[in-house]
Amino acid sequence: METYIPKVGFVSLGCPKAGSDSERILTQLRAEGYDISKSYQEADLVIVNTCGFIDSAIKESMDAIGEAVKKNGKVIVTGCLGAKKEIIEKEYPNLLAITGPHALNEVMTAIHSHLDKPHDPFNDLVPPQGVRLTPKHYAYLKISEGCNHRCSFCIIPSMRGDLVSRSIDDVMTEAEILVNSGVSEILVISQDTSAYGVDIKYRSGFWHGRPIKTKLYDLAEALGSLGVWIRMHYVYPYPHVDDIIPLMTEGIILPYLDVPFQHASPRILKLMKRPASAENNLLRINQWRKICPDIAIRSTFIVGFPGETDAEFEALLDFLKEAELDRVGCFKYSSVNGATANLLEGKVPEAIKENRLQRFMETQARISHKKLQAKVGKVFTVLVDSHEGNYAVARSMADAPDIDGKVYLRDGKLLKAGDFVDVKIDSYNQHDLFASPNV
Ligand code: SF4
Repeated sequence: METYIPKVGFVSLGCPKAGSDSERILTQLRAEGYDISKSYQEADLVIVNTCGFIDSAIKESMDAIGEAVKKNGKVIVTGCLGAKKEIIEKEYPNLLAITGPHALNEVMTAIHSHLDKPHDPFNDLVPPQGVRLTPKHYAYLKISEGCNHRCSFCIIPSMRGDLVSRSIDDVMTEAEILVNSGVSEILVISQDTSAYGVDIKYRSGFWHGRPIKTKLYDLAEALGSLGVWIRMHYVYPYPHVDDIIPLMTEGIILPYLDVPFQHASPRILKLMKRPASAENNLLRINQWRKICPDIAIRSTFIVGFPGETDAEFEALLDFLKEAELDRVGCFKYSSVNGATANLLEGKVPEAIKENRLQRFMETQARISHKKLQAKVGKVFTVLVDSHEGNYAVARSMADAPDIDGKVYLRDGKLLKAGDFVDVKIDSYNQHDLFASPNV
């Protein structure tokens, strides 16, 4: 398959300092494998490095931006005039990005979000599937960086910025490389998987000549066609998430959803500034289960958030009892430097937080016990991760690595990591299942 090399056009104006900035950007572009285009028409996007020193230089820069916009349309402006963003935006409101001078990283980030980095298997020092910290048979696939939300307990957006989705073609190419390298399970991750593509207006990309939208449903469907387990993490309960549930029923992606609800009280969710806080989550969970009875739902919660009253905590326990989630994590609220929740009134004393955490975990333990008990005697396909003595340690569709339970398979020492095998559940303990090969 011939690899397409993306091309960047470059216009460099101004003094030698600006020239040196241009050189650094051009060097980085070439180091990453981009081609430099000599014409506007051939370029996938154009960078204009401007000067804003005197009026005539400003005019020359504005003219150059105008020409790039007219002849190409996809333009990133950098340099001294870029520091006076308002002037440029007034005349050219649809630029891809504007940065000030000495902004190599910002310029490269803007390029990456509009034009994927080429991969050159001959020159890259890493294997095609990248350097990975996970075992060979499963891999995390990051579909975006940053987040558009501003949850009051979280500082991720201030560190990583707003949502930047990877293009669907880039994501699918990586997924395919992972599968070809022997991965049996792909775990989709991001800060907000439901929001995938919103920042690039769900623009379509091409994968194997087929147009696919940069959107959760389309991503799930395309990943599902790779023939490995696809597991979705960090999915917020927006209405459009309902669309992917039938894909679980049809076996295209795993019937597993990691939805960080964090609380059940509408007032606390509002104080937390949670995405989809106005949704009726119980109703949504029931609908999901109607469409896909086997769905395993995992979630995380925070107890002792500032202002949480006894009644609000009881409402959370009621939600937990009614929702009967399969896997649940719970944390006591603790303040993070720079989080806006620190300014909220009504700090909950540590002893009360601890008591709430205990009660929460006891409630969930009873639910979990019932859920695991219901699996005894049933047959599941599991994926082998490792060995412990005579046991193969595996996971079912309901178990993500590290955070959920395990299935211990008797007489499984001859199985290899990455093997799929059908097992019958014999017994269970607090978190895990014990099984025998289903013969
Ligand atoms: S907790 Fe909220 S703000 Fe932080 S990354 Fe998640 S959705 Fe974004």
